[in-house]
Amino acid sequence: MYVSTRGATGQFSAAEAIKAGMASDGGLFIPQSVVKMNIQQLQALVESSYQERALAILSQYLPDYTKDEVKDCINKAYNTIKFDCDEIAPLVSIDDDKYVLELWHGPTSAFKDMALQLLPHLLSHALAKTGETDEIVILVATSGDTGKAALEGFKDVDQTRIIVFYPQDGVSQIQRLQMITQEGENVAVSAVEGNFDDAQTGVKKIFNDDCYKQELAQRGFRLSSANSINWGRLLPQIVYYFSAYADLVKQQRVNLGQEVNFVVPTGNFGNILAGYYAKMMGLPIKKLICASNQNNVLTEFFKTGCYDRRRDFHKTISPSMDILISSNLERLLYHISGNNASLLSQWMNRLSSEGFYEIDDEYRAVIKELFWADWADDQATIQTIRKVYNEHNYLIDPHTAVAWQVGNTYQSQTGDQAPLVILSTASPFKFNDSVLEAICSTQDASIKTEFDMLDKIARITGLKVPQGLNGLKTATHRHSQSCAKDEMSQLVKVILFT
Ligand SMILES: *Cc1c(COP(=O)(O)O)cnc(C)c1O
Repeated sequence: MYVSTRGATGQFSAAEAIKAGMASDGGLFIPQSVVKMNIQQLQALVESSYQERALAILSQYLPDYTKDEVKDCINKAYNTIKFDCDEIAPLVSIDDDKYVLELWHGPTSAFKDMALQLLPHLLSHALAKTGETDEIVILVATSGDTGKAALEGFKDVDQTRIIVFYPQDGVSQIQRLQMITQEGENVAVSAVEGNFDDAQTGVKKIFNDDCYKQELAQRGFRLSSANSINWGRLLPQIVYYFSAYADLVKQQRVNLGQEVNFVVPTGNFGNILAGYYAKMMGLPIKKLICASNQNNVLTEFFKTGCYDRRRDFHKTISPSMDILISSNLERLLYHISGNNASLLSQWMNRLSSEGFYEIDDEYRAVIKELFWADWADDQATIQTIRKVYNEHNYLIDPHTAVAWQVGNTYQSQTGDQAPLVILSTASPFKFNDSVLEAICSTQDASIKTEFDMLDKIARITGLKVPQGLNGLKTATHRHSQSCAKDEMSQLVKVILFT
């Protein structure tokens, strides 16, 4: 069963937690007990496919789903129509102690697909289990990656609708094209005349308007969100930590039971938190290394015990990590404080009222055993892309480069020789301008569009442009509407009622 981090009474089934997304007291759902995997169970994963590994992990956290239901979700999410390789999340060996876990082989070329391909199916079964008859409307404000991944995940999923708002001038040309060409009978996309904050504020307003929600309810619609605090988004991410480890054993790089390190490019703390659950479950992880860009609020937290959001926001070349409030950290703090919901509520209230909180030394000591953290700026990120390409003939995106650089710093500062797995969260083609800047020394006047950049990267490296990006050139534009920021709620009604 699942409970809220803020201590509201009540236990919830997995289906209820996934349907609600967030607890009614503002807390996040967490499993009451963490499942343990013993060495025999780990051994069994070694010769398994990704889908079998997923079944072994997921079904333990979904006791109210039948095995066939979990299998159905897995088969619909992780297949070679949606993903461009059989392994789903392949582990690439760089040298004897360095590996890359590629999490971007899904339809939108970013790691959000790993969770957002599965969540809609988990939700769809949850609706049936809880006797829900309303249609669920997923509302998303996006700065880029999440919107497209959510659209691809939810398209044509029964009993759901999805509406995505993106800031008119706040997304890259590729990201915009990815969204306005979206197919599916249950999808809608609109630009908002404003920046990301305007779009997000508009969505939050809708979520907080009880009158408005009642009006929707009368027509049989219920709002929900697909953001990364939903347990249904975190759970699928646990799988690939186990899968990476199983591959290391399978390739005879490590002996079963031997410890390895993971370095994770971090924003909202969802990806790395899944690694923490994997460790709690018994996966032999020595350290989880938290890599940030110039928005280094987490680095400071891990080094000092003080989380302080009172700082400037930096726009970087790894935009999916440009975050000052890492929501999923709340789950970690709940666990390390010994499930102390009242202490946690104090910290979270202080964060929202004063902009910071500080944890005691005893908790800092626990965190220090598990985590290590550092950050890299844009210049170091570009240099890392260039160096990795030159030395290993391997192309990485800026988010992955941040993790790579921080992984190097960890190894040189600590002398830790344990095998290091770098989580790669986006295809290099998705962030083509920074990648080109890194690997191409001269300016090329013939490059005018994003597609010229994709072609040029493909030409230089011999890699293939991912199908989802290449197809954008000729895809039909289906969603060219835009609205003013105070028209969003009106537009939602028009979309749903007509
Ligand atoms: C979302 C995202 C991240 C950050 O992941 P969190 O789970 O928010 O920490 C890193 N890289 C890319 C490419 C992303 O899309």
